[in-house]
Amino acid sequence: MASWADWNPLELFAPKLCLVCGQAGEALCAQCRRALEPIAAGCRRCGYPGIQNKSGSPQSGGCFWCKPLRGLPSAADMKSQFVYRNAGKALFQQAKFQTYFRAIDGLLDPPDALVAWIKAGGFQVVCPIPERFERMWRRPFNPAERIARILCRGAELPLVHWLRCRGQRSQVGLARKGRRSNPRFICTVSAEQLAGKKVLLVDDVLTTGSTLSAASRALRMAGCAQIGWFTLFRAL
Ligand SMILES: [Zn+2]
Ligand SMILES: [Zn+2]
Repeated sequence: MASWADWNPLELFAPKLCLVCGQAGEALCAQCRRALEPIAAGCRRCGYPGIQNKSGSPQSGGCFWCKPLRGLPSAADMKSQFVYRNAGKALFQQAKFQTYFRAIDGLLDPPDALVAWIKAGGFQVVCPIPERFERMWRRPFNPAERIARILCRGAELPLVHWLRCRGQRSQVGLARKGRRSNPRFICTVSAEQLAGKKVLLVDDVLTTGSTLSAASRALRMAGCAQIGWFTLFRAL
């Protein structure tokens, strides 16, 4: 059942049109639903689709995408559902800018395979990447939170808000050292609360991995040892 927090008054007035092709009917028509590309098998370290590398070890098995990233979860604890291009990209852009998320809910519900993955991973809480404050007043619905809520309902896990954005100063123009001392996220809970917890971090689109890396770093610095990543889309 949808929670009140998912309720968006704008959706009451939204026309019943496919967000991708505009055809009358559902928010995502069957044809456009089929055009979404699931993430194929890929890099043994990060899952980047289409990469065939032999070793799964973090030192030797990375691909062009994951080599620069430190502190990635294991490949088994990283998951994205769809490729972020063509129909997938069009759908998400429309859903986001119209604050009309019903089509996205439909992609995750019923999330049987996803629930199985969450259960197999042993995750205990689901934590969305927080929306940056400057964006919040323009767009009150954080897609990451909406996605996290759907996963929580399916997997019967608590939704937690254990991260907040640091009062953001633009990082543009800061030297590398300056960037590191200006982390983007702050963990809001104590090491005691984090102890022994496996946290599933949720975001809408995985692009460079820098947002999820920064969020993971904040959790790790606060004492969280086990982290996984889920995103609805992955950019290639
Ligand atoms: Zn369509
Ligand atoms: Zn990789």
